[in-house]
Amino acid sequence: MMNEIPEKLITAIKKSRYVVAFTGAGISAEAGIPTYRGEGGLWDKYDPNLYANIDYFLQDPSYYWNFFREVRYPLLKNAGPSQGHLALAEMEAGGNLKTVITQNIDGLHQVAGSSSVVELHGTTRIIFCMNCSQEYTMDKAFSLLMEEFPPRCSKCRGRLRPAVIFFGESLDPHVLRSAYEEAGKCDMLLVVGSSLVVYPAAEIPLVARQKGATLVIINKEKTGLDHEADFIIQGKAGDVLPQIIQSLRE
Ligand code: NAD
Repeated sequence: MMNEIPEKLITAIKKSRYVVAFTGAGISAEAGIPTYRGEGGLWDKYDPNLYANIDYFLQDPSYYWNFFREVRYPLLKNAGPSQGHLALAEMEAGGNLKTVITQNIDGLHQVAGSSSVVELHGTTRIIFCMNCSQEYTMDKAFSLLMEEFPPRCSKCRGRLRPAVIFFGESLDPHVLRSAYEEAGKCDMLLVVGSSLVVYPAAEIPLVARQKGATLVIINKEKTGLDHEADFIIQGKAGDVLPQIIQSLRE
């Protein structure tokens, strides 16, 4: 579907010196990865309040690893970046975007070719040992999981976990600092595919706003911060971002 991209937005992007994108689950929806708030059979079967909860994971990691085996790994193994991910990578390559700050843990920005990515909630593509810190790729973790359930470190037999922030854990302060730094530096923040209701992540756009940045929100539905935005484009990231790229080229 064609969205109306305001001429003023294209001019504002061209004039900006430091554009940063802030992305959420919506940008990955078109890569086939369901959002929490969306509908979907598998997500009904696996409750994020259980598989993404640290207390539950420490008590009984089998729920998470079952989810990893049945849902997370097959999804990510088969998912490629969406048109939205590719468009942001192209904006970076063309000099129109400095950094992506993401709430997503799927690593698809890097797969699309973005090189400057701040992952607020970590990444599911790295698995590490809670005892000796040995790191594993998702493929390796999956093969360990096929040998033993729940999987254990092949060096020390410690328990494994993904390098993500579970519910009930704090964000990494170094990562958070980079995100605040980028938000404070930018003169335009492009929010893409986030409901902007999860804190502290949703504070990032407010930090940018307070420092005087232009706030652009591209989302399928209304968000928690629409009242703060200079531009709101309601639509799919995979439609809107390529149209922006096209207009930037013209
Ligand atoms: P969210 O689920 O709260 O909101 C997603 C937003 O994206 C919704 O407002 C929805 O209207 C919009 N949306 C859906 N499809 C879209 C599309 N094609 N184009 C544009 N917008 C679209 O997600 P959130 O704001 O990222 O916060 C939820 C939390 O869920 C985050 O902490 C995130 O880490 C986690 N999460 C991550 C993934 C992932 O890594 N891919 C997936 C699900 C949830």
